[in-house]
Amino acid sequence: MPQGRRKHYGWGREGEGFSDDEKDFAFERLRERFGVDGFDQRPVPRLADIAIAPPRLTPPASLAGICTTDTHDRAVHTYGKSYPDYVRGLMGDYRPAPDVVAYPRNEAEIAAVLDWAGGAQAAVIPFGGGSSVCGGVEPRIDNSRFKAAVTVDMAQMGTVVEVDRTSRAALIEGGIYGPALEAALRPHGLTLRHFPQSFEYSTLGGWIATRSGGHFATLYTHIDDFVESLRVVTPNGVVESRRLPGSGAGPSPDRLFIGSEGIFGIITRAWMRLQDRPRFRAGGVVRFPDFFTAARALRAVAQSGLYPANCRILDPREAYNTGAGDGSAAIMVLAFESADHPVAPWMARAIECCADHGGIADAAGGPDAHREGAAERWRTAFIRMPYAHEVLVPCAVINDTFETAITFERFETLHRQVMAATTQAIADATGRPGSVSCRVTHAYPDGLAPYFTFHALGRHGSLGPQWQAIKSAALDAVIAAGGTVTHHHAVGRDHRPWYDRQRPPLFAAALSAAKQAVDPLGMMNPGVLIDP
Ligand SMILES: Cc1cc2nc3c(=O)[nH]c(=O)nc-3n(C[C@H](O)[C@H](O)[C@H](O)COP(=O)(O)OP(=O)(O)OC[C@H]3O[C@@H](n4cnc5c(N)ncnc54)[C@H](O)[C@@H]3O)c2cc1C
Repeated sequence: MPQGRRKHYGWGREGEGFSDDEKDFAFERLRERFGVDGFDQRPVPRLADIAIAPPRLTPPASLAGICTTDTHDRAVHTYGKSYPDYVRGLMGDYRPAPDVVAYPRNEAEIAAVLDWAGGAQAAVIPFGGGSSVCGGVEPRIDNSRFKAAVTVDMAQMGTVVEVDRTSRAALIEGGIYGPALEAALRPHGLTLRHFPQSFEYSTLGGWIATRSGGHFATLYTHIDDFVESLRVVTPNGVVESRRLPGSGAGPSPDRLFIGSEGIFGIITRAWMRLQDRPRFRAGGVVRFPDFFTAARALRAVAQSGLYPANCRILDPREAYNTGAGDGSAAIMVLAFESADHPVAPWMARAIECCADHGGIADAAGGPDAHREGAAERWRTAFIRMPYAHEVLVPCAVINDTFETAITFERFETLHRQVMAATTQAIADATGRPGSVSCRVTHAYPDGLAPYFTFHALGRHGSLGPQWQAIKSAALDAVIAAGGTVTHHHAVGRDHRPWYDRQRPPLFAAALSAAKQAVDPLGMMNPGVLIDP
């Protein structure tokens, strides 16, 4: 694990970030796109320059050892990693900072923090890696009945407690980060194989709480499928589900907490289904004349029963932006893996499915093809992308992503409408054209998950409202076309207006009733998913 403090502004730890070459590459592409010679670059406030209001409550002596009101801790826990989070950070606006940050080491300490916070009329914000991109960890308690906010950071509860080799599962604490989790499983020859793009700086508890989507493009796409059982500390006590490979005993308790985004309690540990480490691989890149043709090939592969580990398609612009292509073709990055058997025949058959739609494979798909050429360039860009915001936001570049899912028969209509609405909104909000691109991250037998990226040149002082206008128009179009407000980025506070339109009203009432049972004071992450 890298050492050093987490940055108060940016991704990862102090000292990490884009290299000069990466910055040059990004700015060259952006200068070309916006037709400008340079950017209006503003300095990022140093921690010493940030004004954070004094804490509104003091932890009791019994909790003093695990609580802090240190400015760095409070700044790091003020926001997640969304575009508006970076904008407010750049402006030195840390008004939502939590009053206290707690680092519990066990469930008893979590229960004690919840007891104290409840008595002090404080809201409690569960915090994993803080990689939320939808306002999920921001203590937004203005105009509420809460007098203060306590963030509970799970970093001290980050071990693999037990490995069951027979059933191929492990009991893992919720605060464990991706790299530490994989490092602990590796000696057992096992892996969770769940790699969201935020893998390095996000946690198991956060993944479960947000129903995160990993690198598997088919079959095991969401963390949901890996959860065997879990344990949650709520203000009203502990909930623990039974370890079972499957069960038909009524609605699943696991499913109530998977995706609950911290509003019911804190996920402290979970038994997770694991896999043997893959030994056989095949992969490569297939080129298509256009994106919709690539999407039809993706459908053929998704419905073939082959289940590739990776089956992403990039439109020509996205391929160009990531350096994976020259902008003339749509690209499919395809990969198979197995711990048990060679997968070259699966790869060969998938390439045949693509060829039926005019796809031309770059290579025959050797075992290292996923680490070569365009596939490797795409992979590197994917891994490094999280560092982009801290470089681009200070230059008034508005760059963001949003993602959805839709059944195949409605995909092309949704894509056209969302592209048009977002393109128009960029022009309206910034007075100049920007760019919108799309890739497909996950493929199901009945549909796919399109992931949109937009770039616009904004204006310092107006970046927040400009971004909001573009994002709102985009999500309006997504919901109008029948998509989901999020395929894997969660709801948080920022996606509420669209989630409220998507979610059946009686289901909202059922969620509220469940919350009342486990959190009668409504103190857990108020404003997320439902009204307190
Ligand atoms: C650059 C970047 C790339 C990303 N890529 C992906 C991706 O590929 N796939 C994907 O799914 N998401 C992605 N995300 C979104 C984000 O990483 C996920 O939502 C992730 O699951 C959040 O995990 P976390 O530990 O950082 O949780 P946090 O951001 O700390 O919290 C997220 C939510 O979960 C709650 N929570 C956290 N821990 C617990 C717990 N132990 N118990 C109860 N509630 C808890 C919080 O209160 C909050 O509501 C990305 C984000 C960024 C910034």
